[in-house]
Amino acid sequence: MDKKKILLELQSFGARIDVPLEDRGRCGGAGPSDDKAFLLDGVPAMVPTLGEFAQESPYRVTKNEDGKYAVTSNGENVMPVEFVSSPRFYDLKTKDGIPYKKIAVLHGTDVLATTVSQRCIRWRREEERCHFCAIENSLESDSTISLKTPNQLAEVAEAAVRLDGVKHMIMTTGTINYRDMGVHYLAECTRAIKEKAPNIRIQVQFEPPENLEDIKYLHEVGVDAVGIHLESFSQEIREQFTPGKAQISIDRYFESFKYAVGIFGRNQVSTYVIVGLGDTEDSIVEGCRQVAELGVYPFVVPLRPIMGTPLENVQAPDPKLMEQIYLRVAKNNREFDLAYRNSKAGCARCGACSGIAAFE
Ligand code: SF4
Repeated sequence: MDKKKILLELQSFGARIDVPLEDRGRCGGAGPSDDKAFLLDGVPAMVPTLGEFAQESPYRVTKNEDGKYAVTSNGENVMPVEFVSSPRFYDLKTKDGIPYKKIAVLHGTDVLATTVSQRCIRWRREEERCHFCAIENSLESDSTISLKTPNQLAEVAEAAVRLDGVKHMIMTTGTINYRDMGVHYLAECTRAIKEKAPNIRIQVQFEPPENLEDIKYLHEVGVDAVGIHLESFSQEIREQFTPGKAQISIDRYFESFKYAVGIFGRNQVSTYVIVGLGDTEDSIVEGCRQVAELGVYPFVVPLRPIMGTPLENVQAPDPKLMEQIYLRVAKNNREFDLAYRNSKAGCARCGACSGIAAFE
């Protein structure tokens, strides 16, 4: 079977894990979740493993007689798979007694990821909540804490670099307020982290702040890349699925993109584009082309139906549609000289939640 096809099908259909594994996947949280990092030919890919649809997937993870893991499709071995072992920093606790893994987790193989504020003012209001998001669910399961302090983050980042060779860090956040959207707090966290772990590259993610000049602070304290996530290029779809964020217009997002590219440079600003909310193939490709022209890397991902969200029972997009979109977006990205590997840090650099890297 073609490897790209397997990757795209795994990301849309998920895989059932039929063998005892210490950790079957990350549950809840912001962004794509209910998934696990699979190493396919050494390349990390986040694959849904926990949702109900993953239990119905034709793909399974089994163990061969030689003790190695394999992905099977309808009972046939199609690809070997390895799993990233639990990082050493997971065994430690902060000075105030909080396990490091409640502060930040390993994504892919060398990325440290954290949700700085696990609370979001939009999520708390039913009429503003993004329908795909499970940010506060992981608080209920006690797998994290509601607000990570700059010192806690710095302590964990330093250990992750020293013990596990982590190279970059992603800080996303629930929206903290309606003014700077949390940008100042992200800057404070970055300052503390860069003092203790000066070589770690950092990407932060936020909504466009009221005053775009706030974005400058992030650059001043050493942030390397930023993510400002539009998700859909259709205002109608945004109003349906991300009603709170949709109060900030698409034009305002484009203004923020231009402003941020002016500060961080081309390829160091990215935006999540979610396939499966209802945008057509052409509108996604055209929207991605427009942001790419500005120097913004469009990070295209399939919708991940996450347990406990209004979208938990919808179907992830057809892998054939994903392939078409990846092919066309990657071609445009090349035209504008953008590539995932040119991002200094962040989701675009890691690439494991998307299949686009395989097309660039
Ligand atoms: S703004 Fe939307 S996606 Fe972001 S944390 Fe809040 S509810 Fe989730």
